[in-house]
Amino acid sequence: MNVYIVIDMEGVAGVTHGSMIRTGHVEWRERGTRLMTAEVNTAVEGAFLGGATSVLVKDGHDSGQNIRREDLDPRAELVSGNSVTVGLMPGLDSTFDKLFLMGFHAKMGTRFAQFDHTISTATISDLSINDVVVGEIGMYGMYAGLCGVSVSLTTGDGPAVEESQALFGEHESVRVKQGLGRFAVRTFDPAQILAQIKEGAKSAMNSGAPPLEVSLPVTISIDFLRSAEADMAEMVPGSVRSSARTVQYVHEDPETAFQALQAMVALAGIAASRWASGLYKSGDAVV
Ligand SMILES: [Zn+2]
Repeated sequence: MNVYIVIDMEGVAGVTHGSMIRTGHVEWRERGTRLMTAEVNTAVEGAFLGGATSVLVKDGHDSGQNIRREDLDPRAELVSGNSVTVGLMPGLDSTFDKLFLMGFHAKMGTRFAQFDHTISTATISDLSINDVVVGEIGMYGMYAGLCGVSVSLTTGDGPAVEESQALFGEHESVRVKQGLGRFAVRTFDPAQILAQIKEGAKSAMNSGAPPLEVSLPVTISIDFLRSAEADMAEMVPGSVRSSARTVQYVHEDPETAFQALQAMVALAGIAASRWASGLYKSGDAVV
């Protein structure tokens, strides 16, 4: 059985504050990356105990440079880095059997969820795929469904786990912490959490819901925070500007649709950095 793991960082146990997830920060280097790697190694161990024959790990947080190859279980392969041109889940195809979504946070606008956001806090208000409002959990899981691969394990804070269960049906999951608000969290015993993840990964090899059925064409719709971001996203050929802050993209080929999603997000990011740098200041209305 072939297992694909996407691991984010916001929903890793013991990640309690923003500097731990900020690439380059000392708290990220010394704590965030270590905790993330420990969780993924535990899941790899569990998967092999449960009968996995191969495990491919995608480093799914920020620039994808969080897991050091030398610290990862040698039996697993690693996709490191991040590039629109390689697609959402490099290497994933119908030869895979199970998807593990680890270290996840809830979608933007979720209450009692630590670090709730969808892809980018700076640009996106809502993402929907085929008229279902989703976060990153939904984005990855739906893409996997199109490849015939089922979400078999979810780990993250409480609302992230609930989000995944509601979307993909009953499957193994570990609530590693409980958000109290965007910047407050209740944590549990780290050793126990690692043990639960190992057990969950092992059981996931022989349980879980079938792959999610996603109909074609794939309809992507993004509500941006500001019209400036939609202005940029609209530059993707074939996209439709359905309102001031909303851009849609419809395609029969899932690969193309998801690549358009990534391109729109990347372009919107340029608008967001212009805001952050003060470039738009002269046109900025303050009331
Ligand atoms: Zn992340």
